[in-house]
Amino acid sequence: MKRIVILGSTGSIGTQTLDVVRSYKDIEVVGLSAHENITLLEKQIREFRPRIVSVGTESLARELKVRTADLNLRIGWGMDGLLELAQMEESEVLVTAVVGMIGIRPTIDAIRAGKNIALANKETLVTAGHLIMPLAQGCGVKILPVDSEHSAIYQALHGENQREISRLLITASGGPFRGKDRAFLEHVTVQDALKHPNWAMGRKITIDSATLVNKGLEILEARWLFGVDMDQIEVVVQPKSIIHSMVEFLDGAVIAQMGPPDMRLPIQYALFFPERRYLAGERLDFQKLTELTFEVPDTETFQGIPLAMKAARIGGSMLTVFNAANERAVDAFLHEKIRFLDIYALIEEMMAMHKTIEAPKLEEILEVEQETYEAADRWVAHAKGC
Ligand code: NDP
Ligand code: MG
Repeated sequence: MKRIVILGSTGSIGTQTLDVVRSYKDIEVVGLSAHENITLLEKQIREFRPRIVSVGTESLARELKVRTADLNLRIGWGMDGLLELAQMEESEVLVTAVVGMIGIRPTIDAIRAGKNIALANKETLVTAGHLIMPLAQGCGVKILPVDSEHSAIYQALHGENQREISRLLITASGGPFRGKDRAFLEHVTVQDALKHPNWAMGRKITIDSATLVNKGLEILEARWLFGVDMDQIEVVVQPKSIIHSMVEFLDGAVIAQMGPPDMRLPIQYALFFPERRYLAGERLDFQKLTELTFEVPDTETFQGIPLAMKAARIGGSMLTVFNAANERAVDAFLHEKIRFLDIYALIEEMMAMHKTIEAPKLEEILEVEQETYEAADRWVAHAKGC
C-alpha cells in the first residue's frame, strides 16, 4: 500500500490527484489540506478517510471539527498544520499541490523526514531550489515532477544519461492572448485572461499562463530538476498542447512526450514511477491530428520569460522577488486592482529595487518574500490612487 499526503487537496491538482487515488486499491490518502474550502474538504474526508487534515485558520479548524465530530480525525491549521502533515510518519509521498511560496517549509520538512515529493508547487523550487535539490540528494529522496512539461522531460530522460542532454525544449501553448500585441493587452479583462485554450487549472497559474510568467517559472524549475544551464533551455510554442516537452541529446536525437492534455497522466506517473498504469480517457488520434505547428514565443509582448531569465542570471534572492512580486501582482489583477500589463511593471519595479542576497538561507528567502509582498501591496495601493 502506498500512503500519501496531499497539500492543497481542494485545488485543481489536488482534486485530480484524488481522481487518480480513486482508481486504485493500492494507494491510500493519510493526510489532506485545504486553505478555506472546508465544504469540499469535508466531502474528501468522508470519502478518503485521512487521519490528519489541516486548514488555513483556527476558526475554520474549529468549524470543521464540529462538522466532523462523528469521525476520529486530527485537525490542524496554518503553517504548523502543513508541517505536521508534511512529516506524517505513515506517509511515503508528499504531493505539494498548494499554490505559491507557502510550499517551501513543508517541502523542506518532508524531505528531511525522508518523504518522496510529487512536486506540483513550482514556486517552491523556483525560489528555494538551491536548498531543496541538495537536501533531497543528501536525504536520498526523489523529487518527482507533476508539472506536465517537467514530467514530459522526466519521461524522455528515463533510461537516458542526464550528462548527454544537449537542450531541453519546453513547450508552451502561448496562452489565451497568443498573437496579440501590447495595445490589445491594455484592455483585457480578468475573464479574458482566465480562458486558457487547452487546460483547466487554478486561477493563479491560468493568469501566469496568459502572461507567460508560467513559462518563465518552468524554465527556472527545469534548471533545478535537471541540472542544466539556462542556455540549454528553449521554449517552443506548440499551440495545441499535444507535445508536452522534449529533450535533445548530444547526437541530435529529440525525444518528445505526447498525449492529450490531461494532468492525471503526469500526476499518476509521479505517484507510481517508474511504473506506468492504465489511465482511462482520450487517446491521440493521428488520423485526425493532421498537423502540429511550432512558433517562437513573443518575448517582446509577453515579458514573463525575459523577466524570469533576468532573475535567474542575477540569481540568489532575486528569484524570490520575481516570484513573490508576481504572486501579489496576479492576486491584484484577479481582484481588478491593477491591469494586465501592470503585472510586468510591478515585477520589474520590485526587481529593480532589490539588493540581491547570494544563496539566501531559508529565513532570508522568507524575509525577502514578506518584504516583497509588502512593497508590492504598496505599489498596488498607489496604482489605484489610494
Ligand atoms: P488551485 O488554486 O486550484 O489550488 C490551490 C490549493 O492550495 C487549494 O487546495 C487551496 O485551498 C490551497 N491553498 C491556497 N492558498 C493557500 C495557502 N495560503 N495556504 C495553504 N493552502 C493554500 O491551484 P492549482 O492546483 O492550479 O496549482 C497548485 C500548484 O500546482 C501551483 O504551484 C501551480 O503552479 C502548480 N501546477 C498546476 C497545474 C494545474 O494544471 N492546475 C499544472 C502544473 C503545475 P482552498 O481550495 O481551500 O483555497
Ligand atoms: Mg506546466
